[in-house]
Amino acid sequence: MSSSVIDFIATEARFGARNYEPIGVVLSRGEGVWVWDTEGNRYLDCLSAYSAVSQGHCHPKILAAMVEQAHRLTLTSRAFHNDQLALFYEEIAALTGSHKVLPMNSGAEAVESAIKSVRKWGYEVKGVPDGQAEIIVCANNFHGRTLGVVGFSTDPETRGHFGPFAPGFKIIPFGDAAALEEAITPNTVAFLVEPIQGEAGVIIPPAGYFTVVRELCSANNVMLVLDEIQTGLGRTGKLLAEQHEGIEADVTLLGKALSGGFYPVSAVLSNNDVLGTLRPGQHGSTFGGNPLACAVARAAMRVLVEEGMIENAATQGARFLEGLKDIRANTIREVRGRGLMLAVELHSEAGRARRYCEALQAKGILAKDTHEHTIRIAPPLVITSDQVDWALERLATTLTQDLS
Ligand SMILES: *Cc1c(COP(=O)(O)O)cnc(C)c1O
Repeated sequence: MSSSVIDFIATEARFGARNYEPIGVVLSRGEGVWVWDTEGNRYLDCLSAYSAVSQGHCHPKILAAMVEQAHRLTLTSRAFHNDQLALFYEEIAALTGSHKVLPMNSGAEAVESAIKSVRKWGYEVKGVPDGQAEIIVCANNFHGRTLGVVGFSTDPETRGHFGPFAPGFKIIPFGDAAALEEAITPNTVAFLVEPIQGEAGVIIPPAGYFTVVRELCSANNVMLVLDEIQTGLGRTGKLLAEQHEGIEADVTLLGKALSGGFYPVSAVLSNNDVLGTLRPGQHGSTFGGNPLACAVARAAMRVLVEEGMIENAATQGARFLEGLKDIRANTIREVRGRGLMLAVELHSEAGRARRYCEALQAKGILAKDTHEHTIRIAPPLVITSDQVDWALERLATTLTQDLS
């Protein structure tokens, strides 16, 4: 490591809250699937900022839209209209088939906004007695880091010493439709769930689960809220992961790739009157729906579709999964994935996944461990067959090493 690398890392450590434990690489440039460190070393980005740079680093068309808009108008607040918001609404509604849109910034904010909206819907439309609304969530969920959200996390690291927390959440196992049926009461307003649990280690529910979930929610007048902040916008090989089971959520949450990684943009989408219960002054955000965010998001959605990134995620995801399954290594416990949302779970005796991520870094691949024994692999959706094969070669040599 050169002195400059040590400097960046040491300075971060000295001044920064230590709420992350980054891999020891300092990045300074990105283009497509590639990123470069301060030394000029090139890496294939197999994290994509947790799926936020699905369109690839510094996509030229998103960049152009951002620069152009930044020259004209960046922020008005919602106290006034701007000439980008309506177009953003129109385009995101057309793309996703939603009727109502609430623009926010971070993913966690979209989740918070959905929780507020479904509670309000519960009191004003469903007729739940005030203060009694219940929302059902799943064990091992990840919906963000705000106080409201971590209060219904089941991860001790995530919740520990951050309480007291808001009541009104019931936790059931993921992938268990019978548990949902049992948990629903007349006061249940929503079931909030990820189509595939990303942070939990790319956990895919049993086939047919969401079909039954959809039926249970409809039969009980419970809003199905799908957190597609990570799975949405092509990551799993479909625009929305719900399409794998041919269902439609009542409320869909998008974030991350909605801006192609240029800017925090998130949205709550609803297909019914959930967002219709919000009245002026009841919810808001200074930056939510600002013209710069809208222009960036419009370009990010456009390139996703126009450049065939969703289809590419399906094709390259299948190739990547096949290739991972072909790796014969004693370290591997299981390989999972849908589209370009992939994970390799290691046997606990193989050692920490972090060691393997560091070994991959030395071979030019940046991936991130999750939950001790799982390596998550989620490259930008613009990855080519040659690049997939290049990554597989390096993964194979790394995973056949014993780093315990
Ligand atoms: C990343 C993520 C969030 C939180 O998004 P932030 O922008 O980090 O607040 C919420 N839900 C899921 C499923 C995510 O992957």
